[in-house]
Amino acid sequence: MRPPPVLALAVGLALLLAGCGEPGKTPPQAGGPPAASAAPTPKPTPKPRPSRTTPPKPQLRPLPKTLPAGLRRHTGDRGVALTFDDGPSPRWTPQILDQLRAAHVTATFCLVGMEARRYPQLVARIVREGHQLCNHSWRHDMNLGRRPVADIRADLLRTNQAIRAAVPNAKITWFRQPGGRWTAEEVAVAAKLGMRPLHWSVDPQDWNRPPAKTIIKRVESAARPGSVVLMHDAGGDRSQTMAACRTLIPDLRRRYGISRLR
Ligand SMILES: [Zn+2]
Repeated sequence: MRPPPVLALAVGLALLLAGCGEPGKTPPQAGGPPAASAAPTPKPTPKPRPSRTTPPKPQLRPLPKTLPAGLRRHTGDRGVALTFDDGPSPRWTPQILDQLRAAHVTATFCLVGMEARRYPQLVARIVREGHQLCNHSWRHDMNLGRRPVADIRADLLRTNQAIRAAVPNAKITWFRQPGGRWTAEEVAVAAKLGMRPLHWSVDPQDWNRPPAKTIIKRVESAARPGSVVLMHDAGGDRSQTMAACRTLIPDLRRRYGISRLR
């Protein structure tokens, strides 16, 4: 399955290679040579040095050893909150919206800005059906928190603008850094833009596409009163997540209730 537009493909690849909910781990390279090494040259001529006109890469600030203070990881009551990242996706988002509607519960959707721009009608449906919105950066930038503050701010604003192009005056309560690779600087920028930092407490690593029964087992064994559960409704084949949710949503609702993040 290959989404046609180049941008979607790029995001898909980035998600495949980087994952989402797993901070700090670098998955193995997918097959094929890295783009930079191109075709083998007939003679072992040394590679040309980078041109002096190439601008230097901006320094990334180091990731902190521990997560910054103030991240939201619990609902604050007994109920469990469901969060779905990386969409909207025309294939999977409607499926999870249907399930949530049938169960009469709401969730929080962490949207990637460029996907929100592509699928404004899905953003509109998410809001229309009473779910909450979370900014998940423009292009799922795993290193966003390490960039200059001005770059972070521009990324978050651009993402919010794409969401609000779909739903004027949409309330975007939350921000979630891709991969959970937070920095204190980023938390501060989000706060200045009126967004609270949303982390999680249960991560079944569904982005790595385990079978549905594994996703169910991981969530049900880790869930506690007040848990915030991280799952994905985009960024790859989410059939197993969709299947798992058919069990998880009623189970979690019965055991804890499904809470709205406040
Ligand atoms: Zn993500």
